Amino acid sequence: MLSEILKEMGVVGAGGAGFPTYVKASAQAEYVLANGAECEPLVHKDFEIMCRYPREIIAGMALMMASTGAKRGKFGIKEKNREAIDAIEPEARAHGIELLLLGDFYPSGDEYELVYSATGRLIPPAGLPLAVGCVVNNVETYFNVHEANEGRPVTRKFLSVTGAVRKPQSFWAPLGTPFRDLIAHAGGSTTPEFGMFVGGIMMGKLSFDVDDVVTKTTTGLILLPSGHYLVTRKSRPAAAMARIGKSACDQCSYCTEFCPRFLLGYDVQPHKVMRSLGFTLTGADNWNRSAELCCACGLCTLYACPEDLFPKEACDSAKTSLRAAGIKFIQEKPVRVHPMKEYRRVPLSMLRKRLKVEEYETEAPFNSNDAAPKRVWLRLKQHAGAPATPVVEAGARVERGDAVARVGAHDLGATIHASVTGVVRAISEDSIEIGAE
Ligand code: SF4
Ligand code: SF4
Repeated sequence: MLSEILKEMGVVGAGGAGFPTYVKASAQAEYVLANGAECEPLVHKDFEIMCRYPREIIAGMALMMASTGAKRGKFGIKEKNREAIDAIEPEARAHGIELLLLGDFYPSGDEYELVYSATGRLIPPAGLPLAVGCVVNNVETYFNVHEANEGRPVTRKFLSVTGAVRKPQSFWAPLGTPFRDLIAHAGGSTTPEFGMFVGGIMMGKLSFDVDDVVTKTTTGLILLPSGHYLVTRKSRPAAAMARIGKSACDQCSYCTEFCPRFLLGYDVQPHKVMRSLGFTLTGADNWNRSAELCCACGLCTLYACPEDLFPKEACDSAKTSLRAAGIKFIQEKPVRVHPMKEYRRVPLSMLRKRLKVEEYETEAPFNSNDAAPKRVWLRLKQHAGAPATPVVEAGARVERGDAVARVGAHDLGATIHASVTGVVRAISEDSIEIGAE
């Protein structure tokens, strides 16, 4: 069965969440959707993978359709990406999969947005696409489904390295490759001091750790000089973000008016979450519960707020506190698309301007030479669910593709495989280190 193959071959969502794909493959659905929207500014790896591997991506999608019993397949792709459309279209047509052409807006690749664009259906608040008969996967995940079905496990990650690097590009890197090797592969940084946005400026995290490593969910790195507006903003401590918000938020509600989930009809209102900050010393005792429905797209913080405040981070804190307290938000209002939704979409060009990253917008052409690190550190938790348990010992010789860590038969998670051929040098609580031959 496909789902068993996918668990054993280590296939998880490659677009960021890392949800094990075998769970989706064992569901029944009406629609299987491909998410090729790629709307994070300066991330271009999905565009490149669609141009290079259309046959494999569509074959993986067809496998998921067969596995879920879905009669319809729709492929979300941006209208501006003509080269990728030209590559995907004939393969899709041959499998009866329709293309869904999307505008260049942020965040047209949000799962709720994509399901609505493809089917006109609205996922219930805090629900999953399956609740409205849909299975959604990123395009690289479908590539991995195809590979798994051919007997090739997930051992490498397709990613782009862009921003302040000499040769912005997309390429494959073995899982566990240190970020410093990715940067070297892209010709090195153009600035001595930099921050790295891992997985995107809007929804990724800011890191300064070049020894951190590639996992199954790393979509790429964006380097920006350490004095850049975004690095300064995003490196403020959470307490300072809350303190500034408490004193400076004027409750203009722009954050809510631009919130894509609010505009789709979900009752998330970040200005009310910000208001919570004003009611207590920290806000933590009195969070507005609608934060639960926030998808962390970052638009309120990085685009909408005229005061440069941090409503998205307030929602993050609120979600953490509410979950710890076991409080769940139940939306009473019916989900109805806001009449102004179409008029409040945020074009990527405007977003890049607001983020002050226009000078870094460039292509990230495919480099067919994979990164070749001397050592890799395979994280035991690079998927949603339980961490994997090592099944090899230090000193063992492994071939690329050998299983080195597994999750329990009934645990959520996926097998992890050696990403290089070599010797297991060490096993720690969170990773397996392999020296490449
Ligand atoms: S947009 Fe900014 S200032 Fe306005 S309500 Fe939201 S957080 Fe407050
Ligand atoms: S991050 Fe802000 S704009 Fe995005 S869903 Fe959450 S509250 Fe809405």
